[in-house]
Amino acid sequence: MSIVVRRTNTFAVRPLSDQDEQLLRELLDASASLWNELTYERRQQFFDGESVWDTADYRKQYVGVLGSATAQQVIRKNSEAWRSFFAAQEDGEDTAPPGYWGNEDEGRELRTYIRNDQYTLETGERSRLEIPVGQDLKEEYGLGYHDRLRLEVAGDPKWEGEQGRLELYSDEVDDTFRAFQPVTVPDSRRDSPLADESAALDVGANNLVACTTTTGQQFLYEGRDLFARFRKTTEEIARLQSKLREGRYSSRRIRRLYRKRTRRRDHAQDTLVRDLMERLYDEGVATVYVGDLTDVLSAHWSAEVNEKMHQFWAYRSFIDRLATTAKEYGITVEVESEAYTTAECPVCGERDDTVRNGDVFRCSCGYERHADLGASRTFLERHAGVNLEVGSMARPVRLTWDDHNWSELSRSPERASPNEERTNRSTGDGKLASVGTA
Ligand SMILES: [Zn+2]
Repeated sequence: MSIVVRRTNTFAVRPLSDQDEQLLRELLDASASLWNELTYERRQQFFDGESVWDTADYRKQYVGVLGSATAQQVIRKNSEAWRSFFAAQEDGEDTAPPGYWGNEDEGRELRTYIRNDQYTLETGERSRLEIPVGQDLKEEYGLGYHDRLRLEVAGDPKWEGEQGRLELYSDEVDDTFRAFQPVTVPDSRRDSPLADESAALDVGANNLVACTTTTGQQFLYEGRDLFARFRKTTEEIARLQSKLREGRYSSRRIRRLYRKRTRRRDHAQDTLVRDLMERLYDEGVATVYVGDLTDVLSAHWSAEVNEKMHQFWAYRSFIDRLATTAKEYGITVEVESEAYTTAECPVCGERDDTVRNGDVFRCSCGYERHADLGASRTFLERHAGVNLEVGSMARPVRLTWDDHNWSELSRSPERASPNEERTNRSTGDGKLASVGTA
């Protein structure tokens, strides 16, 4: 089996004239219009309890402006969004059906997708991007039958490889057009002995992910602030719901808060997964072990907060996201039982006489460790069949979320920190102790 990885090149795109810019805007606007029309029909069908797959022929309606291939790409992208929505919904997760590009206040989001064999991208001295447009637009703008729209691109590709579906969009904030080009890169590590390392993840709320690798690295992604904000929004939703008139179940404001809550979580998860995979790839990790949902919910989290926790984490979405991103890096995700990894003492094997207080795990034999990092290490040792020497472990890398990025804190999580004070007020009831049940 040949292993490949997917990476994404980003470029700024400039039309060569005002007329070209007008044409490009029309093309992106028509794509957004197609997306929104199809989304509207599917949402109606969905809320009426009908199948969303039986729709009008939008390809036919938009072929004149977009060309057949581009119209098809937008439709395909839309179908992908619905399929992943249904998959998440099956697990009772807090996800909304696919939404529109843009909104009433700010207008449509100008965006399109172009099939991999439909565009040409050249960089260097004479950098340019050529994309197809439909016959109607060509006639309107005086392009020949075989002409494509030519645009200037700025920036060099970071990755060389086989080109995938191009995403083109208008960044209204920066007043710039941008292109995202996924490329498939042959994996240079294929013959390298480095590429058979493993890692294990422990998933929680105080710490979103604790990870240990067989190379002796540990990563800790903190979740306290993120979860606190999620909970605050949830409380605000409950407050608004209690004020609704009888017979009403939602309002515009409530729906907006739901969307905001979901978007924020998805963004943090996406970024976390990408950051983690970059790090694991650099470590030569080929396999990642992650606990199965039943274990995660039953062993780690008290029943009272299960529901909220499940909503917050959307565990199944997270695992999907993890698997999809891992694949881009040629890394395999294996879902395994992690029963007892949090409660078992790795030194004496005790399971009952151990306690957790905030981030600290203590055993009656005197052994102490960071609860989540320790759990990920035990989990890894069990499934990778290795025994990690304490002395061979690097100092854990601790990461916090600032709404855009996960960035490293220089402090070691083993030491006391302001966060620790907060968790010390907890009851010692597993991972969620410091999160509470409000
Ligand atoms: Zn012990």
